[in-house]
Amino acid sequence: MTSPTTEFSISQRRAQILADLKAASNPTATLVAVSKRQSEARVQDILDAGQRVFGENRVQEAQGRWADLRNNYADLELRLIGGLQSNKAEDAVALFDVIETLDRPKLVKALSVAMEKTGKTPDFLIQVNTGNEAQKSGVSLGKLDDLYQFATQEHALNVTGLMCIPPADEPAGPHFALLAKRAAGLGLSVLSMGMSSDYALAAAFGATHVRVGTALFGPREE
Ligand SMILES: *Cc1c(COP(=O)(O)O)cnc(C)c1O
Repeated sequence: MTSPTTEFSISQRRAQILADLKAASNPTATLVAVSKRQSEARVQDILDAGQRVFGENRVQEAQGRWADLRNNYADLELRLIGGLQSNKAEDAVALFDVIETLDRPKLVKALSVAMEKTGKTPDFLIQVNTGNEAQKSGVSLGKLDDLYQFATQEHALNVTGLMCIPPADEPAGPHFALLAKRAAGLGLSVLSMGMSSDYALAAAFGATHVRVGTALFGPREE
């Protein structure tokens, strides 16, 4: 059986996604290649095609993949897009250029300590639980402003924008619009939203970063 994502090479799929993003947004949204649970060979293919911005959702897996590899690519940008435990804050700060999943005061404190200790100063996005889903991480809409103040005023975290993962069973558009509105209200310019199934829609709603895994690489390993 031929799946739509294996008919073309990774670099062809990347070119198509970049063209889609160009058509949907101005300035063109940045493609974040989500490399979690993808093979080394696929990641090397996309590096060879020129991709330099990557998203990973686990600190340890990302360390294993990138700790050495990143030395070969001076312009590489690594973004943490998965939930972060406070006890991994130091490792996360040491490895990632951007942490997209800031979502609670306790984590702000841990990151602040980790930054002091390592001397690293990544950028941060606040993950917002736009659907108020009980099991999903992300700060609630009601607590967003307080968390932003806490991170930037009480602690010197450089928060540049917001990130969301809309509920799987709802149209994503209203969630993208809401995230854009809340970012504008806080004067923040970076919006990480949209994945394989809806990156073009997210770009049309003002995403500056779309996080695409399977549409780019093909299915993930278990
Ligand atoms: C895995 C993941 C993605 C990519 O998902 P695809 O559907 O494979 O594009 C995007 N964002 C987050 C937060 C993820 O964990």
